Amino acid sequence: MDIMFQGGAGEVGGSCIIVKTENSKVALDYGIRVEEGLSYDAPKDLDAVIVTHAHLDHSGNLLTLADGNTVIIGSEATRDITAELLVDLIKVQRANGNNLPYNQSDINKIRELWMSREKLALPGMDISLYPAGHVLGARMAYLESEGKKILYTGDFCLHDTEILNGLNLDMVPREPGVLIMESTYGGTIRPSRKELIDLFFRSILDAMDKKGNVLIPTFAFHRMQEMAVRIDTAMKTGLLPRYNAYCMSGLANKITQYFNEYRMLFKENIQEQKIPFKYERVKNLKRAKDIREPAVVMCTSGFGHAGMSRELLFEWADDENNAIIINTGYLPEDSPLTMAKDKRILETDDGWFDVKADVKQIELSGHADQTELVRFVETIKPKKTFLVHGNSDQASALKEKIDESTEVIIPENHEDFTV
Ligand SMILES: [Zn+2]
Repeated sequence: MDIMFQGGAGEVGGSCIIVKTENSKVALDYGIRVEEGLSYDAPKDLDAVIVTHAHLDHSGNLLTLADGNTVIIGSEATRDITAELLVDLIKVQRANGNNLPYNQSDINKIRELWMSREKLALPGMDISLYPAGHVLGARMAYLESEGKKILYTGDFCLHDTEILNGLNLDMVPREPGVLIMESTYGGTIRPSRKELIDLFFRSILDAMDKKGNVLIPTFAFHRMQEMAVRIDTAMKTGLLPRYNAYCMSGLANKITQYFNEYRMLFKENIQEQKIPFKYERVKNLKRAKDIREPAVVMCTSGFGHAGMSRELLFEWADDENNAIIINTGYLPEDSPLTMAKDKRILETDDGWFDVKADVKQIELSGHADQTELVRFVETIKPKKTFLVHGNSDQASALKEKIDESTEVIIPENHEDFTV
């Protein structure tokens, strides 16, 4: 059996791993590097593509398979949300002057190729999927072929959040010959969830005391819905005072309908409500001119490099009463949020200006940290472990921690292994 790392090795982005046996050839994820767009050099002679979850760095390249007959395997929720994210990808690329040769009929074809089954057999290969935490619909993939067992984690977490349970370790098969595991936060041990949430609310309250604005740049899929529930609940229970609060993202709005539709996949408190993602204190808003200040605003993009979050970042950053709360742990080096946080400056067409607002990074992601990753490996007991989906410093730090429990390899893109 051959394993080829097409993308996502030594990097966060473009996840795609090819597994080839005597009778079958499958891809584990088919993602893009979001800043680069589609990758046309990924193999297309595939029997199946397994999509662990809808994030575009795991699913975006599916557009290039629309005219073929490769079977796409993933959960129903992943299918529906991937379709929305692909529509948005085409729109965003067009706005950037890049007309992709795809339209709604290609998205429909991708839906037709999709098989949302938790178990499936290909010639000489059995595939099973297991819930992975991380985001709505996320799965791990387990392949059995030629007497060999491969577990691919995709992105996952063990910890619960306000709306979604983390991965249940009891459900995952033990002692695979090969584990291919994400390592996004392989070198990071984060404070407890409770401490992070406390710090998050304290930062908002500080800005509210000064009648300031709070900008929370957030990703449209999952983190936005989770954030809106967090703020809405805090305002209903009195943890936060009443304050203007807005959710501004057309894409997030579209995706939220699936969150209501698939409410049974969330925690019990969500399942019990008829329309759980209908917020009472948080309003959906389209235009910046309708914001009544002071306000708490959740908006896209998550890195502040485009859209409403960029607009408000540049408007609010020079006032010391305002707060900007980054909730992702990973930030591209050149993003405006990175500049605002680390260098305390922002660049406009007219030059640079100083950032006076309080800029905090409080990581509330759906990824396992080092403690969770080590626990996963020590429980699952794989023979050999490939670390992917992480920068080299994160993967190396994790390797040191699990070296004694499993043979660890940090592959590079386009590297081939026979197992
Ligand atoms: Zn992800």
